[in-house]
Amino acid sequence: MKKHYDWLIVGAGYTGSIIAERLATQAGKTSLVIDRRNHIAGNAFDRRNDAGVLYHQYGPHVFHTNAPSIATYLSQFTEWLPYEHRTLGSIDGRLVPIPFNLTSLQILFPKAEADRLTKILIETYGMDQKVTILKMRESPIQGVRDLAEFIYQNVFYGYTTKQWGLTPEALSPSVTARVPVYVSYDDRYFQDTFQNMPKLGYTKMFERILGQPGIDVSLETDIKDLGSEVTYDRLLYTGAIDEYFNYALGELPYRSLRFDFQTYRQGRHQAAGQLNYPMSHDFTRISEMAYLTQEWSDVTTVAIEYPMAHVPGKTEPYYPIPRDENHELHNKYIELAEREAANVVFAGRLGDYKYYNMDQAVGRALSVFEKTIMGR
Ligand SMILES: Cc1cc2nc3c(=O)[nH]c(=O)nc-3n(C[C@H](O)[C@H](O)[C@H](O)COP(=O)(O)OP(=O)(O)OC[C@H]3O[C@@H](n4cnc5c(N)ncnc54)[C@H](O)[C@@H]3O)c2cc1C
Repeated sequence: MKKHYDWLIVGAGYTGSIIAERLATQAGKTSLVIDRRNHIAGNAFDRRNDAGVLYHQYGPHVFHTNAPSIATYLSQFTEWLPYEHRTLGSIDGRLVPIPFNLTSLQILFPKAEADRLTKILIETYGMDQKVTILKMRESPIQGVRDLAEFIYQNVFYGYTTKQWGLTPEALSPSVTARVPVYVSYDDRYFQDTFQNMPKLGYTKMFERILGQPGIDVSLETDIKDLGSEVTYDRLLYTGAIDEYFNYALGELPYRSLRFDFQTYRQGRHQAAGQLNYPMSHDFTRISEMAYLTQEWSDVTTVAIEYPMAHVPGKTEPYYPIPRDENHELHNKYIELAEREAANVVFAGRLGDYKYYNMDQAVGRALSVFEKTIMGR
């Protein structure tokens, strides 16, 4: 039976689901949301494994934002559990807070040296300030420059090289420029004002976002498989823009990941939600799900994360690779879209070829709805 929609929305992640919700509730428009995967929620998808542990299938997702409007928007669809994420890095066999902070300094350096550097860092940059390694490297004080070098070599270099399959020098300078050292004893990974996890998990939150009258969802449906039964006026595409154009200008490179989920018959497996391994092993980090979900029991599941090359059609495209030439290629795809697909709206981390935290993905979706679609 033929069915007509105002919108076809490709992708049931944050971008597609939120724009579908806005179209239904704010503009009275119908949409069909399709996803080639067998579930909604995109990369934020969570589910229970055979042991009953709620886990994040595409890697640990910690919600945090400084934007009250985004927290308020999502609060329509979920209650929250307070959760502040902490990460420890395994450096020379010792576990220290990441981002590197004054506690890390005290653990790794002889006391007198740590005290001396702590004093200099507080005097130079101020307490509770974040300072980049780049800035520390420019310090006139030799001890600060040496510390920057230590952090670069022991915390940043190995992790980044594993994560991207490239040395930091081969990435956009902005990547190195952003590595923070936190002149503080605050060992939280984020300092955002809103740090909470959806109480019943992300997938339940997405069920509510998509549960509006006027939205149909079709899973295991690729846009290429849509037959003539479905017709629509407009298209929102949150898949990869290069794939949409059949890689006409070449492939946009991504880094992929493999997750090895291990379940142990024990209450708690590790000392923090996330342990980073910058100096050893093939994996970058191990995350223990119960920290994030706060569902402790006598079984626990961890996700061991192995970065790997992305092969289109075979692996998941996770992270756009931050190199200037890749962003230039993406700009060429945008120009192509303006010429050949002016009626299609591209958005989301794959459409925009941009890493978004979840709150940024929500913000971008709300703004695409308001500005691009409604013209307000
Ligand atoms: C490993 C990892 C960890 C992360 N951790 C955090 C975190 O801790 N905190 C945080 O704030 N953010 C985190 N993020 C970011 C978060 O995942 C993104 O912000 C969010 O997923 C973006 O949503 P989206 O809708 O743009 O994309 P997606 O969630 O990727 O949704 C796009 C959907 O489109 C579908 N699709 C693509 N092409 C087609 C097609 N041709 N036909 C049909 N369907 C198609 C895909 O299957 C996918 O489900 C993390 C990301 C990764 C990769």
